[in-house]
Amino acid sequence: MGKKPLVDLSDDEIAVLKESSLLVGKTLAEVARHIAPGVTTAELDRLAEEFIRDNGAVPGFKGLYGCPSTLLISVNEQVVHGLPGDRALRDGDVASVDCGVLMNGFYGDSAYTFTIGEVAEPVMRLLSVTKECLEKGIEAAVEGNRTGDIGFAIQQHAESNGYGVVRELVGHGLGRKLHEAPEVPNYGRRGHGVKLRTGMVLAIEPMINMGVKEVKQLSDGWTVVTRDGKPSAHFEHNVAVKAGKAEVLSTFSYIEDVLKRKGKFVTT
Ligand code: MG
Ligand code: MG
Repeated sequence: MGKKPLVDLSDDEIAVLKESSLLVGKTLAEVARHIAPGVTTAELDRLAEEFIRDNGAVPGFKGLYGCPSTLLISVNEQVVHGLPGDRALRDGDVASVDCGVLMNGFYGDSAYTFTIGEVAEPVMRLLSVTKECLEKGIEAAVEGNRTGDIGFAIQQHAESNGYGVVRELVGHGLGRKLHEAPEVPNYGRRGHGVKLRTGMVLAIEPMINMGVKEVKQLSDGWTVVTRDGKPSAHFEHNVAVKAGKAEVLSTFSYIEDVLKRKGKFVTT
Protein backbone atom coordinates (compact mmCIF):
# COMPACT_ATOMS: atom_id res chain seq x y z
CA MET A 1 0.00 0.00 0.00
CA GLY A 2 1.68 3.23 -1.16
CA LYS A 3 1.86 6.16 1.16
CA LYS A 4 -0.06 9.19 -0.07
CA PRO A 5 2.19 12.14 -0.92
CA LEU A 6 1.78 15.41 0.96
CA VAL A 7 0.03 18.02 -1.16
CA ASP A 8 0.69 21.75 -0.80
CA LEU A 9 -2.00 24.12 -2.04
CA SER A 10 -1.36 27.62 -3.39
CA ASP A 11 -3.12 30.63 -1.86
CA ASP A 12 -5.44 30.69 -4.88
CA GLU A 13 -6.31 27.02 -4.43
CA ILE A 14 -6.92 27.54 -0.73
CA ALA A 15 -9.30 30.40 -1.56
CA VAL A 16 -11.29 28.06 -3.83
CA LEU A 17 -11.32 25.32 -1.18
CA LYS A 18 -12.53 27.86 1.39
CA GLU A 19 -15.68 28.40 -0.71
CA SER A 20 -16.37 24.66 -0.41
CA SER A 21 -15.78 24.78 3.34
CA LEU A 22 -18.13 27.75 3.70
CA LEU A 23 -20.83 25.99 1.68
CA VAL A 24 -20.62 23.09 4.15
CA GLY A 25 -21.22 25.59 6.97
CA LYS A 26 -24.24 27.02 5.14
CA THR A 27 -25.57 23.51 4.52
CA LEU A 28 -25.22 22.68 8.22
CA ALA A 29 -27.11 25.91 8.94
CA GLU A 30 -29.97 24.48 6.84
CA VAL A 31 -29.79 21.41 9.06
CA ALA A 32 -29.85 23.72 12.11
CA ARG A 33 -33.07 25.33 10.80
CA HIS A 34 -34.88 21.99 10.57
CA ILE A 35 -33.38 19.75 13.25
CA ALA A 36 -35.94 19.12 16.01
CA PRO A 37 -37.70 16.31 17.86
CA GLY A 38 -39.70 14.20 15.40
CA VAL A 39 -37.59 15.02 12.33
CA THR A 40 -36.00 11.98 10.69
CA THR A 41 -32.35 11.85 9.73
CA ALA A 42 -33.39 11.03 6.14
CA GLU A 43 -35.33 14.32 5.95
CA LEU A 44 -32.23 16.25 7.00
CA ASP A 45 -30.17 14.37 4.42
CA ARG A 46 -32.63 15.20 1.65
CA LEU A 47 -32.70 18.92 2.37
CA ALA A 48 -28.90 19.06 2.65
CA GLU A 49 -28.45 17.42 -0.76
CA GLU A 50 -30.96 19.78 -2.35
CA PHE A 51 -29.25 22.82 -0.79
CA ILE A 52 -25.80 21.72 -1.98
CA ARG A 53 -27.00 21.10 -5.55
CA ASP A 54 -28.94 24.41 -5.60
CA ASN A 55 -25.61 26.07 -4.80
CA GLY A 56 -23.85 24.54 -7.79
CA ALA A 57 -21.91 21.90 -5.87
CA VAL A 58 -22.23 18.17 -5.36
CA PRO A 59 -22.36 16.19 -2.12
CA GLY A 60 -18.82 15.22 -1.19
CA PHE A 61 -19.51 11.91 0.55
CA LYS A 62 -22.25 10.42 -1.62
CA GLY A 63 -20.79 7.66 -3.80
CA LEU A 64 -17.37 7.87 -2.16
CA TYR A 65 -16.34 4.50 -0.68
CA GLY A 66 -19.95 3.48 -1.44
CA CYS A 67 -21.43 6.09 0.90
CA PRO A 68 -25.18 6.30 0.13
CA SER A 69 -25.88 9.73 1.64
CA THR A 70 -25.01 13.43 1.68
CA LEU A 71 -24.81 13.64 5.46
CA LEU A 72 -23.49 11.23 8.04
CA ILE A 73 -25.65 11.63 11.15
CA SER A 74 -24.50 9.99 14.36
CA VAL A 75 -26.92 10.04 17.30
CA ASN A 76 -25.94 9.69 20.99
CA GLU A 77 -23.63 6.64 21.33
CA GLN A 78 -22.95 6.74 17.59
CA VAL A 79 -19.52 8.31 17.09
CA VAL A 80 -19.39 8.88 13.33
CA HIS A 81 -20.61 7.46 9.99
CA GLY A 82 -24.26 7.02 11.03
CA LEU A 83 -26.40 6.57 7.91
CA PRO A 84 -29.53 8.74 7.54
CA GLY A 85 -32.81 6.82 7.65
CA ASP A 86 -36.24 6.55 9.25
CA ARG A 87 -35.01 7.27 12.75
CA ALA A 88 -36.84 10.26 14.21
CA LEU A 89 -34.75 12.44 16.50
CA ARG A 90 -36.02 12.70 20.07
CA ASP A 91 -35.94 15.23 22.86
CA GLY A 92 -32.64 14.81 24.69
CA ASP A 93 -30.67 13.40 21.74
CA VAL A 94 -27.41 14.78 20.44
CA ALA A 95 -26.54 14.29 16.78
CA SER A 96 -23.22 14.83 15.08
CA VAL A 97 -23.88 15.90 11.49
CA ASP A 98 -20.91 15.52 9.16
CA CYS A 99 -21.10 17.05 5.69
CA GLY A 100 -18.82 17.25 2.68
CA VAL A 101 -19.16 19.11 -0.60
CA LEU A 102 -17.17 19.13 -3.81
CA MET A 103 -17.16 22.43 -5.71
CA ASN A 104 -14.74 23.80 -8.32
CA GLY A 105 -12.51 20.77 -7.81
CA PHE A 106 -12.01 21.08 -4.06
CA TYR A 107 -13.62 19.45 -1.05
CA GLY A 108 -14.97 21.03 2.11
CA ASP A 109 -15.62 18.77 5.14
CA SER A 110 -17.05 19.95 8.44
CA ALA A 111 -19.11 18.53 11.30
CA TYR A 112 -21.17 19.92 14.16
CA THR A 113 -22.87 18.16 17.06
CA PHE A 114 -26.43 19.43 17.56
CA THR A 115 -28.65 19.18 20.62
CA ILE A 116 -32.28 18.14 20.14
CA GLY A 117 -34.69 19.55 22.70
CA GLU A 118 -33.42 19.52 26.28
CA VAL A 119 -30.12 17.68 26.67
CA ALA A 120 -28.75 16.49 30.03
CA GLU A 121 -26.06 18.69 31.55
CA PRO A 122 -23.23 16.10 31.45
CA VAL A 123 -23.83 15.64 27.72
CA MET A 124 -23.82 19.41 27.17
CA ARG A 125 -20.47 19.46 28.92
CA LEU A 126 -19.13 16.75 26.59
CA LEU A 127 -20.11 18.91 23.62
CA SER A 128 -18.43 22.02 25.08
CA VAL A 129 -15.21 20.19 25.85
CA THR A 130 -15.12 18.55 22.40
CA LYS A 131 -15.48 21.95 20.78
CA GLU A 132 -12.68 23.24 23.01
CA CYS A 133 -10.57 20.26 21.90
CA LEU A 134 -11.07 21.37 18.29
CA GLU A 135 -9.95 24.92 19.17
CA LYS A 136 -6.85 23.58 20.94
CA GLY A 137 -6.04 21.38 17.95
CA ILE A 138 -6.35 24.37 15.63
CA GLU A 139 -4.03 26.45 17.87
CA ALA A 140 -1.38 23.75 17.42
CA ALA A 141 -1.77 23.60 13.61
CA VAL A 142 1.01 26.04 12.83
CA GLU A 143 4.04 25.83 10.58
CA GLY A 144 6.95 23.99 12.19
CA ASN A 145 4.76 21.98 14.55
CA ARG A 146 3.95 18.34 13.85
CA THR A 147 0.71 16.38 13.62
CA GLY A 148 1.54 14.92 17.04
CA ASP A 149 1.34 18.42 18.53
CA ILE A 150 -2.25 18.72 17.30
CA GLY A 151 -3.12 15.28 18.66
CA PHE A 152 -1.40 15.97 21.96
CA ALA A 153 -3.35 19.21 22.48
CA ILE A 154 -6.66 17.48 21.77
CA GLN A 155 -5.92 14.38 23.84
CA GLN A 156 -4.65 16.38 26.79
CA HIS A 157 -7.81 18.47 27.02
CA ALA A 158 -10.18 15.54 26.52
CA GLU A 159 -8.49 13.21 29.01
CA SER A 160 -8.05 15.93 31.64
CA ASN A 161 -11.86 16.16 31.55
CA GLY A 162 -12.18 12.40 32.02
CA TYR A 163 -13.20 11.61 28.43
CA GLY A 164 -12.02 8.97 25.96
CA VAL A 165 -10.31 9.86 22.67
CA VAL A 166 -11.23 7.65 19.71
CA ARG A 167 -8.13 6.11 18.12
CA GLU A 168 -9.54 4.32 15.07
CA LEU A 169 -10.71 7.43 13.22
CA VAL A 170 -8.58 10.48 12.53
CA GLY A 171 -8.49 13.87 10.84
CA HIS A 172 -6.81 14.24 7.48
CA GLY A 173 -5.39 16.44 4.76
CA LEU A 174 -7.98 17.97 2.45
CA GLY A 175 -7.82 19.19 -1.13
CA ARG A 176 -8.77 17.75 -4.51
CA LYS A 177 -9.47 14.55 -2.62
CA LEU A 178 -11.56 14.25 0.55
CA HIS A 179 -8.84 12.34 2.33
CA GLU A 180 -5.29 13.48 1.64
CA ALA A 181 -2.11 12.96 3.62
CA PRO A 182 -1.27 13.51 6.39
CA GLU A 183 -3.42 11.67 8.88
CA VAL A 184 -4.24 13.93 11.84
CA PRO A 185 -4.89 11.75 14.90
CA ASN A 186 -6.70 13.20 17.92
CA TYR A 187 -4.03 11.76 20.19
CA GLY A 188 -0.28 11.95 19.98
CA ARG A 189 3.08 12.92 21.30
CA ARG A 190 4.51 16.39 21.12
CA GLY A 191 7.19 16.74 18.44
CA HIS A 192 6.17 13.53 16.66
CA GLY A 193 4.41 12.96 13.35
CA VAL A 194 4.41 14.82 10.06
CA LYS A 195 5.93 18.30 10.07
CA LEU A 196 3.40 21.02 9.26
CA ARG A 197 4.09 23.63 6.61
CA THR A 198 2.28 26.53 4.99
CA GLY A 199 0.12 25.27 2.14
CA MET A 200 -1.18 22.22 3.98
CA VAL A 201 -4.94 22.13 4.47
CA LEU A 202 -6.12 19.89 7.31
CA ALA A 203 -9.49 18.64 8.48
CA ILE A 204 -9.17 18.55 12.27
CA GLU A 205 -11.99 16.54 13.84
CA PRO A 206 -11.89 15.40 17.45
CA MET A 207 -14.23 12.49 18.21
CA ILE A 208 -14.55 12.43 22.01
CA ASN A 209 -16.40 9.85 24.09
CA MET A 210 -17.98 10.50 27.46
CA GLY A 211 -16.78 7.08 28.61
CA VAL A 212 -14.20 4.66 27.25
CA LYS A 213 -12.20 5.39 24.11
CA GLU A 214 -13.06 2.04 22.50
CA VAL A 215 -15.50 1.88 19.62
CA LYS A 216 -17.06 -0.80 17.43
CA GLN A 217 -18.71 -0.84 14.04
CA LEU A 218 -22.32 -1.90 13.55
CA SER A 219 -23.31 -4.62 11.07
CA ASP A 220 -24.41 -1.96 8.52
CA GLY A 221 -20.67 -1.63 7.81
CA TRP A 222 -20.78 2.11 8.52
CA THR A 223 -22.00 3.26 11.91
CA VAL A 224 -19.30 3.49 14.57
CA VAL A 225 -20.57 3.39 18.18
CA THR A 226 -18.96 3.63 21.60
CA ARG A 227 -18.17 0.25 23.17
CA ASP A 228 -19.85 1.27 26.45
CA GLY A 229 -22.91 2.88 24.87
CA LYS A 230 -22.17 6.30 26.36
CA PRO A 231 -22.53 9.43 24.18
CA SER A 232 -19.88 10.78 21.83
CA ALA A 233 -19.35 14.20 20.25
CA HIS A 234 -17.65 15.34 17.04
CA PHE A 235 -16.74 18.78 15.70
CA GLU A 236 -14.70 19.36 12.54
CA HIS A 237 -13.07 22.38 10.92
CA ASN A 238 -10.88 22.84 7.86
CA VAL A 239 -7.73 24.87 8.44
CA ALA A 240 -4.86 26.15 6.32
CA VAL A 241 -1.54 25.82 8.12
CA LYS A 242 0.31 29.13 8.40
CA ALA A 243 3.20 30.55 10.41
CA GLY A 244 2.05 31.65 13.86
CA LYS A 245 -1.68 30.94 13.45
CA ALA A 246 -3.74 28.67 11.23
CA GLU A 247 -6.45 30.15 9.02
CA VAL A 248 -9.80 28.51 9.75
CA LEU A 249 -11.50 28.00 6.38
CA SER A 250 -14.81 26.56 7.57
CA THR A 251 -17.17 28.27 10.00
CA PHE A 252 -19.85 27.44 12.56
CA SER A 253 -21.17 31.01 12.49
CA TYR A 254 -24.01 30.31 10.01
CA ILE A 255 -25.09 27.36 12.16
CA GLU A 256 -24.89 29.22 15.43
CA ASP A 257 -26.73 32.29 14.12
CA VAL A 258 -29.64 29.97 13.35
CA LEU A 259 -29.40 28.20 16.71
CA LYS A 260 -29.36 31.49 18.62
CA ARG A 261 -32.43 32.68 16.71
CA LYS A 262 -34.13 29.42 17.72
CA GLY A 263 -33.28 30.28 21.33
CA LYS A 264 -30.80 27.42 21.69
CA PHE A 265 -27.88 27.56 24.06
CA VAL A 266 -24.68 27.72 22.04
CA THR A 267 -21.43 26.62 23.62
CA THR A 268 -18.60 29.08 23.16
MG1 MG B 1 -16.26 15.22 8.09
MG1 MG C 1 -13.16 14.72 7.80
